[in-house]
Amino acid sequence: MAHFEGFRLVAPDLSRVIDASRPGCPFCPERILSVTPRLPDAIARGGRVQRGEATLFPNISPYDRHSVVVALTREHFVAADRFTAVQLADGLLASLAYFRALPGSRRGSHSVVTWNYMPPAGATQVHPHLQAFSTNRPGSLLEEEVRCSRRFWRRHHLPYWKELAESEAASGERFVARGQHTVWLTAFVSRSVVSDVLTLFPGRAQLEELSHGDVAEFAEGLTMALAALHEEGIRAFNLALYSAPGGDTNPHFWLHARLSPRIFFNPAIEGSDSTAWQHLLDEPFMVRSPEALAERLRTRWGTLGESPGPTPGTGQRRRERRGPGSPR
Ligand SMILES: [Zn+2]
Repeated sequence: MAHFEGFRLVAPDLSRVIDASRPGCPFCPERILSVTPRLPDAIARGGRVQRGEATLFPNISPYDRHSVVVALTREHFVAADRFTAVQLADGLLASLAYFRALPGSRRGSHSVVTWNYMPPAGATQVHPHLQAFSTNRPGSLLEEEVRCSRRFWRRHHLPYWKELAESEAASGERFVARGQHTVWLTAFVSRSVVSDVLTLFPGRAQLEELSHGDVAEFAEGLTMALAALHEEGIRAFNLALYSAPGGDTNPHFWLHARLSPRIFFNPAIEGSDSTAWQHLLDEPFMVRSPEALAERLRTRWGTLGESPGPTPGTGQRRRERRGPGSPR
């Protein structure tokens, strides 16, 4: 971790971008059904999946053969602390309906959902939207996670992710909360310079396995995390849900999500947080520790579902963490 003395988050003013993008936005309700493409009726009757405010349609810049966009809200712009759990859940449930409707064998294919919120996080539209796609080439990070999770399972006869959840709960330092369906913590090594939030789904390996209860609790937790990030001035983020390949049982793997805040180092000049270190040396660094973010999240985290909130540290010895992507 790099140490930047006195680093202070300053919220960028994105109002000009929001206003300028409103006229002509393809995802606003008055345009979306006339300008976006349609899916085959066999996948979605009428060409699109509609659920609550969410509208799902094919991505005109597809990542793979099966690749869609989910416009999440009717409003053109929603501040990160204003999303409702219902809006977020409906967007995810629309994605699940799409994945479940895909034809043929999905053996070896990963169902992936991503979210680039606002232009500093790579969004090409201000209007909130997810990407959902099915691919057998999900990228080296997820492929390595699956490979290393399998290896951990063979060696230790338990999922790495279970060990991660239990050891983080025991130490308490990066642990945020545990619900009935999800475990929340911050990432020991984060992609964001101000640390990432991880959500684990115990016993679930693939997105298609999620129940309504799983999705509802995740959406509820996500609204709390986003509100906490917004409160401190974060105005952009990336989110990904990492799913095991289809066609196999994957007891070694837990579906998980990573929420990664994006900032300007210097908002006055729109100075990106992606530097040569991450971009060219593949070396993430943090200017705020994951322990500090976890502490911040815990202070405002209510109870999630019906279970108790954060588990206090028990004073156990802090273990060296070996993530699925770490060299052994
Ligand atoms: Zn719009």
